[in-house]
Amino acid sequence: MKIKGIRIYPRQLGDHECPHCGQRLERRPRRLWQKAVSFVLPLRHYECDGCSRRFFAFSPRWNSMSIIEKSLRVLATAAVILAVIVISIRILITGILILSGY
Ligand SMILES: [Zn+2]
Repeated sequence: MKIKGIRIYPRQLGDHECPHCGQRLERRPRRLWQKAVSFVLPLRHYECDGCSRRFFAFSPRWNSMSIIEKSLRVLATAAVILAVIVISIRILITGILILSGY
């Protein structure tokens, strides 16, 4: 999977090794949205010193979860994203109503 040049590996990486060049990987600090996502989906952000590729991979915690917990976490992520969209639209509509004098 590839989103905006950042690869996401839907599996755990063995021994923190780069899947491209085999170099040892360091975990990188995550941005706020990445932390929000990883609250429900345990993704880790890696950057390779060897080939400077950046990507995400699931943490080892993911593999030890049951399928029910995985589903719940995916659903929770979808619910949070939906809530953010609905709230944004509501704020937008309220703003338009105020501007148009209702
Ligand atoms: Zn690499």
